Amino acid sequence: MNLELDAEQTAVRQLARDFVDREIAPHVVAWDRAEAVDRSLVKKLGEVGFLGLTVAEEYGGSGGDHLAYCLVTEELGRGDSSVRGIVSVSLGLVAKTIAGWGDAEQKRRWLPGLTSGDLVGCFGLTEPGTGSDAGNLTTRAVRDGDTYVINGTKTFITNGTWADVVLLFARSTDAPGHQGVSAFLVPADAPGLARRPIHGKLGLRGQATAELAFEDVRVPADALLGTEGKGFSVAMSALAKGRMSVAAGCVGIARAALDAAVRYAGEREQFGKPIARHQLVQELLSDIAVDVDAARLLTWRVADLIDRGEPFAVESSKAKLFASEAAVRAASNALQVFGGYGYIDEYPVGKLLRDARVMTLYEGTSQIQKLLIGRALTGVSAF
Ligand code: FAD
Repeated sequence: MNLELDAEQTAVRQLARDFVDREIAPHVVAWDRAEAVDRSLVKKLGEVGFLGLTVAEEYGGSGGDHLAYCLVTEELGRGDSSVRGIVSVSLGLVAKTIAGWGDAEQKRRWLPGLTSGDLVGCFGLTEPGTGSDAGNLTTRAVRDGDTYVINGTKTFITNGTWADVVLLFARSTDAPGHQGVSAFLVPADAPGLARRPIHGKLGLRGQATAELAFEDVRVPADALLGTEGKGFSVAMSALAKGRMSVAAGCVGIARAALDAAVRYAGEREQFGKPIARHQLVQELLSDIAVDVDAARLLTWRVADLIDRGEPFAVESSKAKLFASEAAVRAASNALQVFGGYGYIDEYPVGKLLRDARVMTLYEGTSQIQKLLIGRALTGVSAF
C-alpha cells in the first residue's frame, strides 16, 4: 500500500480543510448550543461534492476513491462530528447502499437528490427493544397486493427529522431472526410515519436524532431494496463501510484534540514555564499523537482494501473499534492538558469528548466489534 496521497487526493483533502475552516468552524459552538446544525449546510456539502464521493457521476456523484472519502470524513470530523455524521449517514449508509443494491429506477429516483444535498437520507435499523441484536428486530412489513404495510418503531435515528427517505429494515417474512428481514426505501412524508426528535444527547447535539413510528405506512412493492429476506445483508454491508467512515471521523476528533492540546500547552504557563515543557504533559500529547497515526493507518487500510475489491469487513471492525476508543482517549487526554479550563464549554475539548463518546456505541458497540473480530479469528460466533 502506497501511503503517499496522489494529486487528486491531496486536492480533495485541501478542499475539505478549507470548507471546514470557512463553513463549519465559525458555527460549531452555536450549533452545539442550539442543538441544531444549520440545515442549509447540507446543500453546501452537496455543491462541493462531499455528498457524492465514490458515487458514479451519472447519478450526480463526484466519483473519487474510498481514501478520498476518508480524507474528507476525517476533516469533517475534525471540524464537527455532528456534520460528519450527517454525511456518513446520508451518503455513507443510504446513498452508497442504494448505489450498491438498488435497481435502475431506485437509483434514478433517489441518488441525484441525495448527492446534491436536495434530499437527506436516514438509516432505520435500531428499535427500542433491539440495538446490538438488530437481527431480531420486530418492525413488520406485511405484503398486501402491490404494497407493503409497515408497523413498528425505530429509535436513535440520525437525520431522523430531516430525512426525505428512510432506508428501513423490517420483518417481511416469518423466517427466523435476520433471515426474515427486508430493506425498504420509504419516503419520509408517507402517511402514518410520525417523527419525534430526541433531545438531551451528551454529544452530537447538532444532529437531528429521532424516533420514527410507523403506523400502517403503505409503500409500493417496488420500495423493496434488494431481494426479500436479504435485508440484513443490506444492513451489514452498509455498516461494514459505515464503520470505516466512523473511524475516519474519529481520526478527525483525535486530530482536533491534538491540535488544541499542543497549542494550549505552548501558551499556558505553570511553575514559570509553558506546561509543554513538563514531561508528563508531553506524555499526554505524545499518547494523542500515536493514537491519531495508528487510527488513521487502520482506517486507510480499509479504504485501500475496498478500492482494490478485497474483503474488508473485519478490518473495518478493527479500525472502528480502535479509532473510536482512541478518539475518547485522545479527547480525554486533551482535556487533561487543559486542566480545569477543559471542563468549561468555552474551550473546545469538552465538546470533542462529548462527541467522541458515542463512537464506541453506534454502528456496533466496541463489544460487538470484538465479537465480530473474534468470530473471524475462531470461526465460532458468540452471537
Ligand atoms: P444494547 O444493545 O442494549 O447494548 C447495551 C450494552 O450491552 C452495550 O455495552 C453492548 O456492547 C452490550 N452488549 C449487547 N450485546 C452484547 C453481547 N452479545 N456481548 C457483549 N456485550 C453486549 N441506529 C440506527 O439504526 N440508525 C442510526 O442512524 C443511529 N444513530 C444513532 C445515533 C446516536 C447518537 C445513538 C446514541 C445511537 C444511534 N443508533 C442508530 C443506535 C445505535 O446503533 C445503538 O445504540 C447501538 O447499536 C447499541 O444498541 P443499544 O443502544 O440498544 O444497546
